[in-house]
This record gives sequence, structure tokens and C-alpha cells, in this order.
Amino acid sequence: MLSGRMMDFPLTIAHLLERVGSVHGHVEVVSTLPDKTRHRGTFAELHERSARLANALTKLGVKAGDRVATFAWNHRQHLECYLGVPAMGAVVHTLNLRLHPTELAYIANHADDQVVVVDLSLWPLFDKFRGEIKNLRHVLVVRDTGGPAPEGTLDYEAVLADASPTFDPPALDENAAAMLCYTSGTTGNPKGVLYSHRSTVLHAMIAGLPDAIGLSADDVVLPVVPMFHASAWGLPYVAALTGTRIVFPGPHLDPASLVKLMAEERVTVAAGVPTIWMGILQLLDAAPEKVDLSCVRTMIIGGSAAPASMIEGFSKRHGLEVTHAWGMTETNPLGTVARVKRHLRGDAAKELALRATQGFAVPFVETRHVDSDGKVLARDGQVMGELEVRGPWVASSYFGDEGADRFTKDGWFKTGDVVRIDAEGYVTITDREKDVIKSGGEWISSVALENALMSHPAVAEAAVFAAKHPKWDERPVAAIVLKPDAKADKDSLIEHIRPSFPKFALPDEVVFIEQIPRTSTGKFLKSKLREQYGDILVDKA
Ligand code: AMP
Repeated sequence: MLSGRMMDFPLTIAHLLERVGSVHGHVEVVSTLPDKTRHRGTFAELHERSARLANALTKLGVKAGDRVATFAWNHRQHLECYLGVPAMGAVVHTLNLRLHPTELAYIANHADDQVVVVDLSLWPLFDKFRGEIKNLRHVLVVRDTGGPAPEGTLDYEAVLADASPTFDPPALDENAAAMLCYTSGTTGNPKGVLYSHRSTVLHAMIAGLPDAIGLSADDVVLPVVPMFHASAWGLPYVAALTGTRIVFPGPHLDPASLVKLMAEERVTVAAGVPTIWMGILQLLDAAPEKVDLSCVRTMIIGGSAAPASMIEGFSKRHGLEVTHAWGMTETNPLGTVARVKRHLRGDAAKELALRATQGFAVPFVETRHVDSDGKVLARDGQVMGELEVRGPWVASSYFGDEGADRFTKDGWFKTGDVVRIDAEGYVTITDREKDVIKSGGEWISSVALENALMSHPAVAEAAVFAAKHPKWDERPVAAIVLKPDAKADKDSLIEHIRPSFPKFALPDEVVFIEQIPRTSTGKFLKSKLREQYGDILVDKA
């Protein structure tokens, strides 16, 4: 190798911790508390407190590679764990507080969590499984509701107060594990994905580019997406790099609280799953004159498909821009972003259609789609196949080497998403592999039907699933949630979407329900719908 090259400087979260103190100390961090008051701190305080946490963990006997779990809402102490835990060499493991206690116990043991940082407001939930965590040594309680820390636990604030504010990070290998996130898979046991320091830092650098998520020091970011879901899409780390003011919602995730927070804190970029934004759109539609969201530059929507009607509704009726993005826990998570390339602009309908795709890959993520034999398919925008991705922040295996069949021999990760890819690289998800509707040998896209149904003015939410059929094996059935006081029947809904689909793709039946069942991360839980309504066509036959 030639001599006289650049330094071999590791890409680690320790640098982000250093940076929030040395460069961005003046930047504000706002955290919403359970009683709806807001705590205001600075990055300088964040730096010092994360440093104290790192020192305290060392004092408690936490070693490099040990797992320190969080069971917490989005707030500054959670961010301190994001920075302080990896900076001292341990791995921050974000437990998903929407899971069942049995599942949480499984995950905490699978991860071998030794320390848990838990919100007092979540203590009743934590208490349901903490006794099951075999190697649990310390529980640090963030007293967000003000009461005393339960017996046998440590008060997070007291632990920090006892620790030195001066932190000298150990030498860290950039490929060492920094964070552990579990998939929210609806079948089989959840699997762990280890993010390395390098993958996290590189991901933050690319996610911060203007055509990716794009944050600057002039922005104010609101991560509605939970910090227990795929590192809140890396936004906290991007903000640490760029010096972006952060506003945390705490436990208040209802549309009214979020809109108020956005308006009062002058949020410029907010990020969350479509169900959150659907609620916000309905709220704005009901009372558009009451809130001033002119501060909002864009809303990042991902985790499930953002319907074109929602993207259009925000822009036409409220002047708000949506950035649609795709990612997975296994991809740290950002994979693709739906930007409209310059040469494709000009025709409003085509632009909207492109914004509603999952977009094209961000730098260093590569995409391809394959048939069931693994043959790479043409990027013609027509042929459907399973999306595979690779890149420096794509998992190369699961924690404990489970699920090896998701990784191809030639170095790609099989996403389980069924897609089309066009010549420009735009990816369109037509289904999760397990949700594909196979009707008499034809594949019917449930996502396309849902998006079309959600453009009906009376429809709040639509989920289309495969119901068993005596002749065609499977046929599409739509589950519909109507907007409050709105009316629609099966015929009017089918008439509404008829022009956009061949006859065989139209749903055979429509069921009207109160709420679409959801996964722990807010995606439609179609397996539940299939369980409940899967025989509806057989019963009728
Ligand atoms: P998770 O690991 O829980 O974040 O789930 C990842 C899965 O969410 C992906 O494999 C997709 O099926 C789905 N997903 C994420 N973003 C989108 C999107 N923009 N449109 C459609 N599905 C998405």
C-alpha cells in the first residue's frame, strides 16, 4: 500500500459525544414530560450528562460490549443513553415498550441485558417482566413523573450526580457494536440487529444529506418515530452531527399534542409512520384555520407506505411537504428516499406518483430485485420481485446468527418486500412477501389497492388482505375505517377505484371496522385481519 495517506481515524459515536459539547453546546434540546410541561436543556448539558452516564456505567461494572437497555419514551435522557452508552464501549439496546411482557422478557434475555434505564411512567409495564430478566444487575430509573425511584433501583439523576463529568473515551474499534435493535417481525421470534459505530456514523452522515433526510443547524427536528424503533431513524445522531435543535414528544403522540408541539416549538422537520400523519391530516382538515404550521419544511414519512392521497392532501390543502422514505431495522434504517429528480419534474400528477413510491437508494445503499430462483430482474418498472439491498449499514447477519436464510451467498440482504424497480432506480413496494394476494396465479398488490381506497373522501384507513377463496385460492378483501360521520358502502368504494385497476384485482368484499389492528411500530397487522376475516368468502360461498 502507498505510504503518506490519511489518518486511520475511527468513525465512532464517541466523536458525536465530543462534538455536541465542543461545537454545538448552545443548541437546545426540548423534552415533553408526562405532565405536558417541557424541559429545556442544551447540547452542552447533554454532553456533560452523557459523559457522567458513561463514567457511572463504568463504575457500575459495565464492560465493553455489555448490553445496557432502555425502556423509555423519546426524551433527553434517552438521547444521553444513545451517546453515553456506546461512547464507553457498551451497547445500547432499545426495548420496544409496545410489546407484550412475554416478548419483552424473551428479547431482554436474548440480548442479555445487564442494566436497564427505565422511565418511572413506564414502571408498571416494566414491572411485568423485570423479574424474568436473568442477568439483570442494575435498574436506573428516570423519574419523569417525579415520584421516588422504586425500591431496589437506582435513581438516574443521583447516579449521574455521583459520577465525574470529565470523560476520557476508551479506544473504540469503529466496527464494534454500538446499538442493538430488534425487528418487529409478526412471525417467529424477533431478531436482533447490531448497529456498529461505523454503520451508525456513516448512516447519520448520509441521512443528513439534503436529498436524503437532510438536517442542518437551521432546522428544528421532531422525532415522533420512537427511539426504540430503529434508532428513531438515526435522527438523534444526525442532529448531533449537524447541531440541529431537537424537540422530543415524550409520551404525547396524539395528533393534537403533536400539532401544538410543532407549532409552538417552530419545528421544521418531523418524522413518523403514516398512521401518525393520517391522524394529523384529519385534524388539520377539520380545523385548518386554527394552527400555523408554516414553520414545517418537511414531514418524513416511512415505516409503511404513505398513500398518494395523503401526500397530496397535505400539500394541496395545507401547503405541507411530505418526504416519503423506506427503511428497515436491518438497514440502520434508511434505504431509499422519494425525491423527484430534476429532469422528472413538471407534470404534477407524475411528480405525485413519484413521491408516493418508496424512492431511490441513498448513496452507498444498493438495490436489486430478484425472482423466486434468485434471478436478478429487469428494472423496467413492471416486473415484481423481492427487494434485496446491500451497503455499509445493512446487516450482514442477525445477532446470534439467526435467520441466516435472509442473507444471500453473494452478500445481499433479502428484505421480504415485493417491489418493482424502474430504470431511474425508483422502488415501488407492492407488498410484504407474506401479504401478497395470489389469486388464480395472478399477484394482486394490496398496497396499490389500499392507496387507492384511501383516496376516497370518506375513508380514514384501508387495509387489504388475502381471504381464502374456494375457486381462486385467495381474493382481496378490504378492511375500511371510515372518517367520523362519513358514509360509504361497498359499491361506492369499489366504483371509486374501478378506473385504476383491472377487474380481477378489485376486492371481492369490504368489511367496515372501528380500527385496523396494528403492530408495535404502527404498521397494519394484516395477519390479525386474515385471522378474523380470512374465511369470509368461504363462508359466503
Ligand atoms: P421495521 O424493521 O419494523 O422498520 O419494518 C421494515 C418494513 O417496513 C419494511 O420491510 C417494509 O415492509 C416496511 N416499510 C418501511 N418503510 C416503508 C415505506 N415507505 N413504504 C412501505 N413499506 C415500508
